Amino acid sequence: SGMTLDLYKYVASIPDYPEKGIIFRDILPLMANGEAYKQATDELVDYAKNKNVDMVVGPEARGFIVGCPIARELGVGFAPARKKGKLPRKAISASYTLEYSTATLQMEEDSIKPGQRVLVVDDLLATGGTISATIEMVEKMGGVVVGCAFLIELKDLNGREKIKDYDVKALMEF
Ligand code: IMP
Repeated sequence: SGMTLDLYKYVASIPDYPEKGIIFRDILPLMANGEAYKQATDELVDYAKNKNVDMVVGPEARGFIVGCPIARELGVGFAPARKKGKLPRKAISASYTLEYSTATLQMEEDSIKPGQRVLVVDDLLATGGTISATIEMVEKMGGVVVGCAFLIELKDLNGREKIKDYDVKALMEF
């Protein structure tokens, strides 16, 4: 229709999830609306367009939902960073700490070629642990991270500090 939507209207805020005192920001309403989903991913495509991106990489699972339409629109490939134990071929790993535990992501060891220019994408930047582990694997394979793109950034958690050496784009802030 040519109208610009207010994307904030398509983010649900769920109090006390997954635990008391946390407000969970949920992008499912945005995905459920074709115009909002298209506008959001188009805005991130615009951000990436002049970066000569060769590959898009996103962590499981919502990084796929945001990253795949961007890769398709840019006409480049998508490589997933999966939760540990899901990849059938040889994989590399990167771990990061959560509040009371650690998590491990994996990528196929040849999924990024040396020198490839990579856009890393996720739905939301919180502490930055997930995206930093993803970046670590891309760089281990010789990829060059040319940008980090998110729908949402949670400002108070200061994840941007963890990826301050990179170009970062977030469409919405909470
Ligand atoms: P980080 O590793 O602390 O930056 O957390 C970001 C990751 O956790 C992303 O993959 C998000 O999907 C997920 N996440 C953390 N907080 C939220 C939230 O409030 N809503 C949706 N996803 C979240």
